[in-house]
Amino acid sequence: MNIVVLKESMPDEWRVALMPESVRKLVGLKASVYIESGAGVSAARSDDDYREAGAQSSKDRDALLESADVLVAVNKPPDDVLAKLRQGTVVIGFLRPLDEPAALQPALNHGLTAFSMELIPRITRAQSMDALSSMATVAGYKAVIVAAERLPRMFPLLMTAAGTVPPAKVLVGGAGVAGLQAIATARRLGAVVEAYDVRSAAGEQVRSLGASFLEVDLGGIKTEDAGGYAVELSEEALKRGRDLIAERATTNDVVITTAQVPGRRAPLLLTEEAVYRMRPGSIIIDLAASTGGNCALSRPDETIDVNGVTIMAPLNLPATVPVHASQLYSRNLTSFLSSLIKDGELHLDMNDDVVGPSCVTHQGQWMNKRVAEAVGAAG
Ligand code: NAD
Repeated sequence: MNIVVLKESMPDEWRVALMPESVRKLVGLKASVYIESGAGVSAARSDDDYREAGAQSSKDRDALLESADVLVAVNKPPDDVLAKLRQGTVVIGFLRPLDEPAALQPALNHGLTAFSMELIPRITRAQSMDALSSMATVAGYKAVIVAAERLPRMFPLLMTAAGTVPPAKVLVGGAGVAGLQAIATARRLGAVVEAYDVRSAAGEQVRSLGASFLEVDLGGIKTEDAGGYAVELSEEALKRGRDLIAERATTNDVVITTAQVPGRRAPLLLTEEAVYRMRPGSIIIDLAASTGGNCALSRPDETIDVNGVTIMAPLNLPATVPVHASQLYSRNLTSFLSSLIKDGELHLDMNDDVVGPSCVTHQGQWMNKRVAEAVGAAG
């Protein structure tokens, strides 16, 4: 069974799908791993590192694709790559099935079996495969580092001979995986942190990290589903959260927003008016830009200045920490891929409660109901 890793094609993508430590594991499962020459360089892994781990490297991309039984990737491979794969080849990566379902039509047309890391259910058995959480962890950490670098102040409280320097104040909107990591990182740098989330269960986690939790009276409505995710709220409930954030943002130096509702546009947390009320020199890092943004003024992948407030809306922060982001992703991917390998051969059990739900296309069929509906192919 041949597993192929190419160099990622997307601009500013420095991650690689498999790191050498994972290659070792897969070779131990009797798979053969082939890596495109240079694929790991931006994640500080040379072709020699891969060869030592048991992979073979090649510069001949077309030959690699023709021989692949499985193509593993970080981002959805370009259409010309998919077109060179044999029918029935398995493709695994962040395929954005709910954000850009139509872009997966070529995978369907070529008869590929596509698995999307975003669709892996968050059940206990699949925790080691949860790449969304891994990348949210990296993004939450890096958002604070970017903010600290940009902020014209220091983060920690300092008592110096020249007087006291007060600590930076950080407000985090959305206390899921990314938000909690942002809180932990900002606390480690010495900031005073407060956070808001519509799920009251997040309060305990926020407080355990040494931050304060902002309570909003949402009238006792249901704010989360059975899976622990936020649900879409009424306009009135959203407004109460927004009003509180607008008020608190005037006293904070940094606002990091991470609020998302799966399958929906990101909720608006910071209005234009709220931004104009913030102090000059403040920083907003909007981590929800890929799903529409939490700040009314953020522009995807741009840094703008509004009345002295810097607004950044990075789309791919995990790629800017390529070694650890690749390491975590590679482990998640390998955990999933290992579950598809029996006696060195691919064994796809679509009735499995992790394999089935994460499959998007198989034998010319849309396998996921939500994706099929999104492309208008649901029958
Ligand atoms: P996410 O990226 O979908 O959303 C981020 C956060 O935004 C969530 O905490 C959500 O409640 C919050 N949010 C949504 N609308 C908001 C609004 N209007 N105002 C303020 N906050 C808002 O979520 P995530 O970080 O991927 O995870 C969320 C939940 O899933 C958490 O309970 C987490 O513990 C749980 N989780 C479980 C597993 C697992 O069981 N394997 C893995 C990861 C996460």
